[in-house]
Amino acid sequence: MIIVISGPGGVGKGTVVERLVAGDPKLWLSRSWTTRGRRPGEAHDAYHFTDRGSFEARVAADGFLEWAEFQGNLYGTPTPDAPPGRDVVLEIDVQGAEQVKAAHPDALLVFVDAPSREVQRRRLLGRGDPPEAVDRRLAVADEEAGRGRALGATVVVNDDLDEAVGRLRALIDEARRGAAR
Ligand code: ADP
Ligand code: 5GP
Repeated sequence: MIIVISGPGGVGKGTVVERLVAGDPKLWLSRSWTTRGRRPGEAHDAYHFTDRGSFEARVAADGFLEWAEFQGNLYGTPTPDAPPGRDVVLEIDVQGAEQVKAAHPDALLVFVDAPSREVQRRRLLGRGDPPEAVDRRLAVADEEAGRGRALGATVVVNDDLDEAVGRLRALIDEARRGAAR
């Protein structure tokens, strides 16, 4: 099964996904490629950090399940090679989610959002994003949420972290039962 988790920047997707994957050995987290530079303090393995030429060569070789340009940088999911029996988790933007749905209509689509744009703003600033980057993220958040709904993704509001992770676990359990039927 493919589990797609998308949502605006700073709503807490990474935090939720880290907890989710740490608590379920059947999940396999895909590591994306990006041409964005590593943020100060960001883990070296948060992405496969690369340059535009290498990224474009992999696109030409058909090596991505999906890819998208987001605020001037390229991001892509390498064609997954999860061990047998593991469910693939993708944390990607909503354009990527649209591509995955087109290729895998049975994927589980989840859209994580913050309780409000004001809470999202505080989380982005609290994470240390520069104010102009925060404004850019907030400016596209409502449009992203609209695309998420249009896609038929289930919305999970990340207010209390434990509750959000619990809700995602329940959605995954339900989808696994459906897939086994
Ligand atoms: P995203 O991956 O969506 O860009 P992050 O996971 O980096 O977002 O989270 C953005 C910030 O919000 C981080 O500083 C994180 O610690 C914080 N955060 C995430 N979830 C919650 C929550 N439920 N309550 C309060 N703060 C949160
Ligand atoms: P950030 O720069 O904050 O790490 O990520 C910016 C956006 O790109 C986020 O919405 C994130 O989910 C998304 N993203 C990360 N990896 C991928 C990917 O492989 N494909 C797509 N389409 N989006 C991605």
